[in-house]
Amino acid sequence: MTTLAKPPTPMQKPKNVPPASYNSPIFEELGFPTDPHNLYRQTVGAMLYASELMGLPHRVQIILAQPKTEIMVHFPVKMDDGHYRLFKGYRVQHNNALGPYKGGLRFHQDVHLDDVKSLAFLMTMKCSLVGVPFGGGKGGVKVDPRKHSNAEMERIVRRFTTAIAHGIGPDYDIPAPDVGSNAQHMAWIADTYSFLADVGGKDPSAVITGKPIEYGGSLGREKATGQGVVDTLIEMLPELGLKPEQCTFSVLGFGNVGSWSGKIFQDKGAKMIAVADHTGFLVNEKGIDAHDLATYVQQKGGVGGYTKATAVSKEEFYKTKVEVFIPAALEQMIQESEAKLINAIVIAEGANAPTTPGGERILTERGIEVLPAILCNAGGVTVSYFEWVQNKTYQMWDLEHVDRELNKHMVKAASKTRDARRKYNCDLRSAAYIAACERLNQAYAARGIFP
Ligand code: GLU
Repeated sequence: MTTLAKPPTPMQKPKNVPPASYNSPIFEELGFPTDPHNLYRQTVGAMLYASELMGLPHRVQIILAQPKTEIMVHFPVKMDDGHYRLFKGYRVQHNNALGPYKGGLRFHQDVHLDDVKSLAFLMTMKCSLVGVPFGGGKGGVKVDPRKHSNAEMERIVRRFTTAIAHGIGPDYDIPAPDVGSNAQHMAWIADTYSFLADVGGKDPSAVITGKPIEYGGSLGREKATGQGVVDTLIEMLPELGLKPEQCTFSVLGFGNVGSWSGKIFQDKGAKMIAVADHTGFLVNEKGIDAHDLATYVQQKGGVGGYTKATAVSKEEFYKTKVEVFIPAALEQMIQESEAKLINAIVIAEGANAPTTPGGERILTERGIEVLPAILCNAGGVTVSYFEWVQNKTYQMWDLEHVDRELNKHMVKAASKTRDARRKYNCDLRSAAYIAACERLNQAYAARGIFP
């Protein structure tokens, strides 16, 4: 593992922290939604606050505040009982100044445009911060995958692929898994795309990452986001005076990111004592085995009913005293009321945008450190980049190589974030945005703005 050259200095409370509701003049200039609870306004607002601190040129601020392209499609699919349903899908391409658009596809009943725009924006920031040659994109289908048979999902995924096929490509826009989508879905997308697209004889499977290992996937991709969360924690914990083996932790959401974060952090010596998802809240002060629980969740679909821990209320779950709290579910889950309850030293954001600005303000006042998502959960897209490189160069990396390269990227991104925090005396989220925007600003300064 790469370690830091400089000895860490303990974190001090920063002077510059964003207000609970930041009001940039750019919002009015670009006609942003005025609702302070709007996710797009919140996520872009955090970046604009950081931009102001660092003095990012206005032209770059306005470019980054809106996506380049928003694709919205409607497509019919035959259900198993013979009737047809119309589905709504999206692909938002936020920015490609640093390379092809990159980001996941979400299959969830609540997917809508402003969320996809936020998530695409976060991908641009994440890819810039973690030093991969990609821009940001995101897409999704408004569908609850749990309510469809495998055969229906296959038809939905393949038909969605045909609807967006003209807008994606191995050198242009490369989707990947996100909430509700998995390696099997990626395989269907790659297969469908390979029949539709003419990519000049090149391997079309590089159009998507997060594929099964048997079909162009990379070792280490499935666990990559969780691995990145833990790599970030290992880098940042010493600054908070903590070692993994002294840590207890809670996990909110036990899907791909939550379960892998839990398993890997536990393997480093930490103890998971609280966990929650849409099916229940569990606590066991003696420890909940993340590996055993992950096997249970695979069979049952959620943590509810797991008998080796006690079912508790939502409030008790949040109040459980831990060193590390890992939100790994959906956006905006830590609002003011949850932030008041959380009893942790540090929050490691495994999910995208899990903390609202109001929630964050309370956490900061209470001295709880937040490791921001664009740093903490960038492991997934980093290994996606490795998968894409392997596809394009006909290589197959071993797991040690993948893990080592991932760790290098995570350590460097953590170090850039820490440097920006010291330089601008700000919170870690603003610091991560500053580091990400610096790279984007350099790219715009070098290339100029056409014409
Ligand atoms: N959906 C993941 C994310 O939010 C991964 C994206 C990718 O691998 O392109 O970072």
